[in-house]
Amino acid sequence: DLTNPDIIAENEVAFEGALRPQSLSEFVGQTKVRGQLELLLKAASMQSRTPDHILLAGPPGLGKTTLSMIVAEEVGKPLRMTSGPAIQHAGDLAAMLSSLTPGEILFVDEIHRMARSAEEMLYLAMEDFRIDIMVGKGAGATSIPLELAPFTLVGATTRAGLLPNPLRDRFGFTAHLEFYDAVELEQVLIRAARLMNFEISAEAVKIIASRSRGTPRIANRLLRRVRDYFLVHNAVSDTAAVDAALELYDVDTLGLDRLDRAVLRGLLERFGGGPVGLSTLAVSVGEDSETIEAVVEPFLVRAGLVSRTPRGRVATPTAWEHFEIPQPNVL
Ligand code: ATP
Repeated sequence: DLTNPDIIAENEVAFEGALRPQSLSEFVGQTKVRGQLELLLKAASMQSRTPDHILLAGPPGLGKTTLSMIVAEEVGKPLRMTSGPAIQHAGDLAAMLSSLTPGEILFVDEIHRMARSAEEMLYLAMEDFRIDIMVGKGAGATSIPLELAPFTLVGATTRAGLLPNPLRDRFGFTAHLEFYDAVELEQVLIRAARLMNFEISAEAVKIIASRSRGTPRIANRLLRRVRDYFLVHNAVSDTAAVDAALELYDVDTLGLDRLDRAVLRGLLERFGGGPVGLSTLAVSVGEDSETIEAVVEPFLVRAGLVSRTPRGRVATPTAWEHFEIPQPNVL
């Protein structure tokens, strides 16, 4: 039943999993981060110790989960996956930490959303591989130290700025993931098409890459929709299928999606192009400001459509041109 959203979601997840690169050498782009990780893992292996804790920061879909899996693969240790919102009490974290096996990789997605009390427990665990468990209440309460197996924490966040300093400082290395350029996205697509047994022309790959918002996850999804279109409509050429599929799914020539466009349009039409504060802008499109700041804004800035000024967000001339709205005269 393809109308059942659960089944579709499951398929998307399975699909993403199948396309995940398994090693650093298969991982496309992010050359800098790859080199940094390679060095860190190699040094740890030469000294037979667990690698330092790693923080992966950047917008969604750029490969944070994939990198955590690769780290586990490269060190040859199991990977335990959890997320900040799942750790709402220090006890949740204590249970997880105390069950880790030596050298295990602990991946905490959205680590900035962990409960404060758990955060404090994590400081000690990261530094000394030890936690203090509180037993009893009131005057009779005591803390019992508990030794942990050495582990490597891999934290992922879309908002590195939200992490408290003591937590940020305990990561040996922070990788800032950047949007992928067109050539890198083409490599992602060519690899994915091969894994999907989908024969696609270089030209079609180029168009999809240019409209994927700098994001491998989006590139892979668009590729899948194009293949669907090709299959169902028996299109004359794959470039025609690309154009038609992208139009059907509301992806515009710059790769902007619905929310990107709503935000930009709001900025242009309601606020005369700005400057306007991020939270005001978020309210005007009915989204929370975290989503706008972590998901929408980074790409709009990178695409040169919005700039951040001390007085707020401002639309650039390119944004006015893209929407074909005449820019009001600036005094
Ligand atoms: P989120 O934080 O939203 O979970 P993420 O940054 O963890 O996103 P991933 O789930 O790791 O992103 O990657 C999304 C998809 O993009 C995966 O299916 C993966 O196959 C693909 N992908 C990501 N990075 C690369 C890359 N460098 N090379 C090839 N494929 C990639």
